[in-house]
Amino acid sequence: MTKVNIMKNMPEKVIIPLKQHDGSICEPLVKKGDMVCEGQKIGECGSYDSASVHSSVSGEVVSIEEAPHPSGNKVNSVVIQPSEDAECVDFKPKDVPVSELANLIKDAGIVEHYGTPTHMVLKPEGKNIDTVLVNATSSEWIGGHYDTPSQYSSQVLDALKLLMKAAGASRGAIVLRNDDLESISAFDGLNFDGKNITVAPLVGKRKVKYYFKDMASDIVVVSQDHIYGRKILDLFTYNVTGRKVSFGCDPTDVGVAICSVKSAKALYDAVNAGKPYIETVVSVSGKVKDPQKILVRIGTPFKDVIEACGGYIGEAGKLIANGAITGVAQYTDDVPVSKTTTSIFVQSVDEVVRGESVACIHCARCVDVCPVNLVPSRLTALADQGRFDECRQMHIMNCVECGRCAAVCPSKIHVLQLIRYAKSSIEKAYEDFAPKQSSTNLKLGCCGGE
Ligand code: SF4
Ligand code: SF4
Repeated sequence: MTKVNIMKNMPEKVIIPLKQHDGSICEPLVKKGDMVCEGQKIGECGSYDSASVHSSVSGEVVSIEEAPHPSGNKVNSVVIQPSEDAECVDFKPKDVPVSELANLIKDAGIVEHYGTPTHMVLKPEGKNIDTVLVNATSSEWIGGHYDTPSQYSSQVLDALKLLMKAAGASRGAIVLRNDDLESISAFDGLNFDGKNITVAPLVGKRKVKYYFKDMASDIVVVSQDHIYGRKILDLFTYNVTGRKVSFGCDPTDVGVAICSVKSAKALYDAVNAGKPYIETVVSVSGKVKDPQKILVRIGTPFKDVIEACGGYIGEAGKLIANGAITGVAQYTDDVPVSKTTTSIFVQSVDEVVRGESVACIHCARCVDVCPVNLVPSRLTALADQGRFDECRQMHIMNCVECGRCAAVCPSKIHVLQLIRYAKSSIEKAYEDFAPKQSSTNLKLGCCGGE
């Protein structure tokens, strides 16, 4: 299991954005001059599509102001100067009844790595969830929160049970990656609820349903290929359960809730240790002296995280949050780590790609690397001309935003940006349509199919 260091130095200040999720922004519960405790709730919103925020340090609120956010925007944030005086944890939700688990998740501020509040994944309004999947296929999401492999496997299984209870789901699965042998061996043979766990590979038509039956268990551990990209959840659902999710739908439309290991661990800690979501593991790489995975307090400025990793090597050219290829370039290293920050990548001045893109030379490299068999060069040209309907007909919504096409393009065409632009325009145009009305062009069929 990848070693994770803990950031020991306290930052000079933490900047806690009041919006670290997709949905309504929180209202501050504190004002300038207030003393707050580590774990104290400092922002909340009554709206269901929100998640509370908590102070990651004890100290004094020095301001509430619009501050840089890793999304690239400015967001109203609570700035806190740590102080050694106050030492208490305000959040103690132990022994929560099952009916209150979803509320606890909202109150503890647990958010998926792609921004959706976890309670909305587990208890989507007007939908029923029957299966919960914990996606442990990406090491970024596993994030090395655990000291030992056996601690990892038993806590994730306990967390899965909590997630299933919160969702009211009868079945759950942990999905590992085929080549993550360490995790596989951590689960294989583990005795859980009186049964020995066997990690089963998802092969061909053998989806998770087969193993629920074969192993006579409502909780199974399976493995499959590497999964990447934030838009992959529909495909992930199909690969694991065989249920098809189409345009305008998401996995919850077919009764599936997908949570990351990070959010599973956060729920485990909220229930068992009374700890809200105030720290996260960030993978720091590129031109830093000591690249590593590091556990940091939410709200810690990027520059402090980089300092904890030995500092920059030479002059930094570009800082990118959440993936060198698909992430967001930052205009300042004062930007704080938020709940959705998974990585920081530093490029040197020489590495920063500058210069204009030139015309497509039809080399087809982008086509060769696309994992979902799209024709990125054609999609890019159509998107550039605003021909979004034709993009739809060419299945642009199946793009998982892996960024491989942009990475290989010798003409430096902004392939991914143009594809994202077209996708968001299409989503906007169809947001008032019922999902099934807009699903006819997609390869994966319509909602609810198995
Ligand atoms: S980002 Fe490019 S390579 Fe990746 S799925 Fe989308 S079109 Fe294909
Ligand atoms: S890789 Fe770039 S230049 Fe080559 S076909 Fe694709 S878009 Fe055109």
